[in-house]
Amino acid sequence: MKQLLLVAMLGLSLSAKAAVGIGPISQPDNGSNSAGCIPASEMTQIAKDFTQFSNLSGKEFCNDNSQTAYLLAGIEFIRKVQFTQPMTNSADQLFKNNFSGDWNKYLTNLIHTFQIEQSCPVGVIAFVYGFFHQNTMHVCPAALTNAFTPLDLASVFMHEARHIEGYPHTTCSQGPRAGLNGACDSKISDTGSYDVTVETYAQLGQYGKDINPAYRALAQASSFIYAAEAFQTPVQINKDEAFLALNTDREMYQIDSGLKAATKIGATANFGHIAKSKMGLILIPEDKNLPMSRVFITGETTPIAGEYNDNAATRGNVVDYYFAWTWNARIEKNKVQFFCDKRQNPTQSVVVQLGAGEALSVVYPEGYTPEKNYAYVTTTKGTVKISCEGSTGQIVAANNVTVDTDLKRVHKAGSTMLGLTNDGQLLNLSANSKRVDLGLGTVVDVTSFTRATFFDKK
Ligand SMILES: [Zn+2]
Repeated sequence: MKQLLLVAMLGLSLSAKAAVGIGPISQPDNGSNSAGCIPASEMTQIAKDFTQFSNLSGKEFCNDNSQTAYLLAGIEFIRKVQFTQPMTNSADQLFKNNFSGDWNKYLTNLIHTFQIEQSCPVGVIAFVYGFFHQNTMHVCPAALTNAFTPLDLASVFMHEARHIEGYPHTTCSQGPRAGLNGACDSKISDTGSYDVTVETYAQLGQYGKDINPAYRALAQASSFIYAAEAFQTPVQINKDEAFLALNTDREMYQIDSGLKAATKIGATANFGHIAKSKMGLILIPEDKNLPMSRVFITGETTPIAGEYNDNAATRGNVVDYYFAWTWNARIEKNKVQFFCDKRQNPTQSVVVQLGAGEALSVVYPEGYTPEKNYAYVTTTKGTVKISCEGSTGQIVAANNVTVDTDLKRVHKAGSTMLGLTNDGQLLNLSANSKRVDLGLGTVVDVTSFTRATFFDKK
């Protein structure tokens, strides 16, 4: 009899993203197995650890996009990944070397068989039956596609292995996952499975060798997000807030929250609107023929999959997106499509008409607050509050927020509110809308971003 499902809820965030087209990176190339083949000698070792692969022993295995291929890519990644030494603890609670020993040894001690499931509940990507100390990990179809990187699989496998040692989850009583069964651990210092998730991503993000920069950035974001979401007792994370600005030369600048200096950090391939998401920044290109892509703070972009990218015909209607932790909204001129209920299939949505005025932009006068269930949108007839209160989409007048229609964007970093005018000027909205001239020329877009300071250390 199966009594206790210890489920990896990592799928929660991924399915929420999938709902509005922010899918993962589509090319699983981490640089370490770029040829897409696992050498015969490695397959022999893998078959020794997991006898289910004995028929593949002694033969080179090349990625054929099968579920087995993705599973093996995760196993091989754990075998091969290396880290720069020494791996110093973070000053906060993100990385305490609790799981930084030999990952392959840890996994193979606890897991002897991988069972590929034919179907799983929405949002579930892997699970084990912990009470029986069975050494089988059940892996769901959602995990075995190119939507998951080998880094993600490595983190999931380590997370599930920890359950075998007797660390179940609890129901979240507060925070963005409130009410979700088995989606929280009590506190990170208990060193349960979500601590494994946070620390493995932090380790990959800070100390992993030969990691594709895009994957490194996502690993850092994942560590930060799980630390912020999956614990009843808030995790201490030291973080830094700043602004990013894109100018007409496609140059990306970082601006400190005191608005004192701008530092060029890279360039983007295309012009567009930089939207915020829980996994980082997204570029919605001005040219609607182009797909959405992720923006890393160097300005590098990587194409991503998803609803937006797959539905070119309706892209022209998109004004902006709002991505929170457990809900999302697609904003068009006259309507907002809400993806509210984290317990439902993420493809379910509700459309609410805007009524008067046309939508212009999501604005962030309170900063980016993805844990909250509301956000603000400017329209030609004033600012409205969009929300998923009561788990359904709502649009009401924002009585407490007034945004000048001359402003294209409003963002906050630290205690500073920065505005961008329609003609490309930056204004310090925390100081009587004083013009901010940092020599950037005409600014096309601006946003804010938050980073765990642990990842700033070289
Ligand atoms: Zn779990």
